[in-house]
Amino acid sequence: MRSSYLVFGNPLIEEDEINEVVETLRSGWIGTGPKVAKFEDQFKEYVGAKYAVAVASCTAGLHLSVISLGLGAGDEVLVPVLTFAATANAVIHSGATPVFVDVDPESMTIDLEDAARKITPKTKGIIPVHFAGRACDMKKIYELASKYNLKVINDTAHAIETEYEGNRLGGFQDIASYSFYVTKNLTTSEGGMVTTNNEEIANKIKILALHGMSKDAWKRFSDDGYKHYEVVYPGFKYNMTDIQAALGLHQLKKIDKMYERRKQIWDYYKSELKDLPLILPGEATHGTKHGYHLFIILIDTDKTKLTRDEVILGLHKLKIGTGVHYRALHCHPYYQEAFGYKPGDFPNAEFVSDRTLSIPFSPKLSDDDVKDVVEALKEVFR
Ligand SMILES: *Cc1c(COP(=O)(O)O)cnc(C)c1O
Repeated sequence: MRSSYLVFGNPLIEEDEINEVVETLRSGWIGTGPKVAKFEDQFKEYVGAKYAVAVASCTAGLHLSVISLGLGAGDEVLVPVLTFAATANAVIHSGATPVFVDVDPESMTIDLEDAARKITPKTKGIIPVHFAGRACDMKKIYELASKYNLKVINDTAHAIETEYEGNRLGGFQDIASYSFYVTKNLTTSEGGMVTTNNEEIANKIKILALHGMSKDAWKRFSDDGYKHYEVVYPGFKYNMTDIQAALGLHQLKKIDKMYERRKQIWDYYKSELKDLPLILPGEATHGTKHGYHLFIILIDTDKTKLTRDEVILGLHKLKIGTGVHYRALHCHPYYQEAFGYKPGDFPNAEFVSDRTLSIPFSPKLSDDDVKDVVEALKEVFR
């Protein structure tokens, strides 16, 4: 057995990140400043968008996306039921109502036939989640969106490197919101980025993210001299700091290197785990590139008596940390009480929800770590 505990989602932080953070601290400019601006510029290049606004988190970005598109009280927004709570909560905090949609059991992305069934005259938006790094079927999403005049907000928390027909997702209509949380493919400890090709939306989000102060407020204390600001909207405090951007700039430089390492781990897991009672993750479908954010295994309950929770505990005892992405939202008390959902409402999501488990998949893992994960899984099922 391993001597040390293998934490799930350990980020790869190296000397270049550490030096840049220290240099930022020494510079005296630790708030929102030039490093945030540089990170926005480089990130929008990478994901293929014209505009990028760095924010405090993907959750903040989703919230601002919903508001900036004019969605609010009386509107319904389609949200896949297999996602992190933040996707739905961002809708709720805008005053709109999330309407849950089942997922495709294989890709775990939003089931667009179920989405079509859930459309009412109040439906005004859809938030596709590019789950685990797998791109949704964008063609079908935009067909649905144009037929029913829906705004599209892409939850790209898992999907920085993901491509659809040769393009990364940052420039797709209307907005994409990225996460730089600790466990994500690129981390700034906490942080996020909203990208869009629409200048008006980008400006609105920028204003909303800093108290609703006019655009130049972002430069208020720069060496150009003090500037008065004007509040044009009751906004939020959702800005990113230069300390966070210092991490992001270096993480972005090695994003493709980290991707390659995860791809190696992916291939190793797929070949080493294939004889266990598991349903292994599928490959990217035609025309897309997988972002390889999570390696999700489903416990094959036809082939083993062990439950997901027993496997988690077994791995924990062997010092292997895991994650669960996710227990479907309709299984949580809040959404049941607020919207009347109940177990059984979303069979595909529930199938995944009951069996799913994410094993360590960070580019920081050594070859020995990865072997330990495989050996521990074999031991648990022995
Ligand atoms: C992580 C995550 C979020 C929220 O990201 P934060 O940056 O932590 O706010 C939203 N949606 C999905 C699918 C996520 O995995």
